[in-house]
Amino acid sequence: MEIRIERTKNPKTMPPENELGFGKVFTDHMLLVDWEEGKGWYDARIVPFGRIDLHPASTVLHYGAEIFEGLKVYRRADGGIQMFRPQENVKRMNNSAERMSLPQMDEKDMLELMTAFVKLEEKWVPKSFGTSLYLRPFMFGNDEALGVHAVKNATFMIIASPSGSYYKEGINPVGIMIENEDVRTVRGGTGYAKCGGNYAASTRAGERAAKKGYSQVLWLDGVHRKYVEEVGAMNVMFKISGEIITPMLTGSILPGITRKSCIEVLRKLGYTVTERLFSIDELVKALENGTLEEAWGCGTAAVVSPIGKLAYNGKEYVIGGGKIGDVTQKLYDTLTGIQWGKTADYFNWVYKL
Ligand SMILES: *Cc1c(COP(=O)(O)O)cnc(C)c1O
Repeated sequence: MEIRIERTKNPKTMPPENELGFGKVFTDHMLLVDWEEGKGWYDARIVPFGRIDLHPASTVLHYGAEIFEGLKVYRRADGGIQMFRPQENVKRMNNSAERMSLPQMDEKDMLELMTAFVKLEEKWVPKSFGTSLYLRPFMFGNDEALGVHAVKNATFMIIASPSGSYYKEGINPVGIMIENEDVRTVRGGTGYAKCGGNYAASTRAGERAAKKGYSQVLWLDGVHRKYVEEVGAMNVMFKISGEIITPMLTGSILPGITRKSCIEVLRKLGYTVTERLFSIDELVKALENGTLEEAWGCGTAAVVSPIGKLAYNGKEYVIGGGKIGDVTQKLYDTLTGIQWGKTADYFNWVYKL
């Protein structure tokens, strides 16, 4: 795909690396590609970062046709930059597009767009361990009419935000509330797609948990309100009597790349990892009889997030003495080691730029 580049005349400077939060500062440029039915993708361009024009009837504003991805660019000690399994994000973006009746893009083209954009913005990849340039590819339906149908026009974009270390104050286990009112999605719905609507629908539960002093909620499935699905916007894993259990991908769970990587790392370390339906009753039993040794969420932003407390039906359970467990720590060290190029890339996951 040919990319037209219009460079900014007012380059910005990056704030000090220890002051970078998450997703608040943006780089100098953004990438856009348009799509029209019958014509395909056209006019790939990188232009100065700024506001975009939308028609008030644009599909995304009314019917929520929006999907996104999230991945990071890491700076190695030798000064080079790299991504972590970006091919997986490209595949997932197309799976999300298929679910939401948005256009798909050739995998090689999408990866090329990401690469070209990152190369232009290379100076925005911070240097300290834990910091990264967060990439946000996204796509939305952009018909300028109110009729409801599969879109005939769409826009693909990439923006990027230099981000600080998720664990600036060290890894502190979080408190989680088990949610038994709202559900995130249902089988047959959009749970496996990374779409904005899933987030809009799950914010309320998160807010309610926050009011009670918990960081996030543990989601149960939408049909039986029985099987554990995810924690906040992360996948979830439990270590019970030495075995690692994670909810199987039933269609209502987002297939996380960190989840997949954790499973591969754990198996290589010799752990038994079981992907299956895992009920809240089983979880409560393991909490009560002390066999639940560790629990953690996993996703690109945090890598892993240990769960120190779980609240259910007015009762609060402490996990692992409220401290990060050995397996959670090992996963964190292994994955961040590979991502920031500190340890060998055993699995061939790194994509150097
Ligand atoms: C993005 C996301 C995840 C984590 O996926 P990663 O590829 O590991 O970042 C998990 N759950 C939800 C709902 C998500 O949107």
